[in-house]
Amino acid sequence: MQTRLAQTETMQSPPSGAERTNLLDFPRPELEAYVTELGGKPFRARQLLNWVYKRGEGRIACMTDLAKDFRARLAERAEVRPPRIVEVQQSRDGTRKWKLEADPAQAFEMVYIPEDDRGTLCISSQVGCALDCSFCSTAQQGFNRNLTTGEIIGQVWLANRELAAAACEAPGAGAGAAQPIVSRLDGGRPATERAVTNVVFMGMGEPLANFRNVVAACRILLDDYGFDLSRRRVTLSTSGLVPQIYRLAEEVNVALAVSLHAPDDELRSELVPINRKHPIAELLEACWHYLDERNGRSVTFEYVMLDGVNDSPAQARRLARLLAGRPAKINLIPFNPFPGTRYTRSPAERIVRFRDELIGRGLIATIRRTRGEDIDAACGQLAGRVIDRTTVRLGGRKMSLIVER
Ligand code: SAH
Repeated sequence: MQTRLAQTETMQSPPSGAERTNLLDFPRPELEAYVTELGGKPFRARQLLNWVYKRGEGRIACMTDLAKDFRARLAERAEVRPPRIVEVQQSRDGTRKWKLEADPAQAFEMVYIPEDDRGTLCISSQVGCALDCSFCSTAQQGFNRNLTTGEIIGQVWLANRELAAAACEAPGAGAGAAQPIVSRLDGGRPATERAVTNVVFMGMGEPLANFRNVVAACRILLDDYGFDLSRRRVTLSTSGLVPQIYRLAEEVNVALAVSLHAPDDELRSELVPINRKHPIAELLEACWHYLDERNGRSVTFEYVMLDGVNDSPAQARRLARLLAGRPAKINLIPFNPFPGTRYTRSPAERIVRFRDELIGRGLIATIRRTRGEDIDAACGQLAGRVIDRTTVRLGGRKMSLIVER
């Protein structure tokens, strides 16, 4: 049974004080409807998307090919409103973390991880998280609210802009390098690469608990007129909200990552409490359904390596039996510690042994390279600033509080 929250609607509403419509809130069909409401032709929506996402333009006044009166009407009522940056930190390894404002008392985080062949942005979907996974520092903060679509997609928009600006300011960037990395597809210039080539919903929050807004954001990420990312470059990570995985299969085509973390229900229920509601067998059924629904979909299982808890060779063999014969990939994540945690990271040899047990049984297994540790930007270290609004506690313990939409 799904726990429903009476106050869902209030959680969904944008931060107070925002009177203007945020254009970042709308996937294409909704933007077309909005534009029509303002008396514009539907094709204006495509022009707007082109300005906002392809050219990274946030000022309506600068969108010069929009008819003047329409532009004026739009500028009166709407704006491009990404989250406000509170703080930026840069790691020794090039990873960057931004703290963003949800409202004056609340913050959430996004992280950019540059690699040779890609730039991955790890984005948040909620302020805090209600799922209470025992090894995750976001869980310790509690849950405050869902992010709006504009706040979710605004992270990608903002990161592209910030990184383009940083590239221009970099030492050695002469006048010729003043061109932002944000694609400029107009004016006959070749499209340059955007900084963000991959997006992962692995920041703060449980994306499937903010289903409607996360799906809308995914649509903008995938839309040819939006960020135009391929479905393999957008990954949604979930702790295992089974009904929402089935719904996701119907709605949008992205790569799925599932936080498995244990090969048996007893241990998984301890690490990922939502397992008490949706045990492993049920979760795996949903994953195979997601895979079957359309060709080219993929599922990756995430498995955090906790010293002496879930990292024995016997547990690896049990995990291999669970996934045998399925087109599944396992990503082992060395545990990232945070203040107050009772866990420690498995030693490197133990992680390698675990991986080899899986590979030896025909599975694809990789070890995630930890990035941004010196600025607390690694998996599970994002904490933001959260005032816990969860009040539902079951059996003295905060329990999977799912916002069903
Ligand atoms: N709510 C989503 C996204 C969470 S973050 C989910 O549960 O999948 C992405 C991954 O980091 C998840 O697999 C999560 O379990 C893992 N993670 C959380 N805390 C961690 C930590 N301290 N060290 C390493 N990985 C962690």
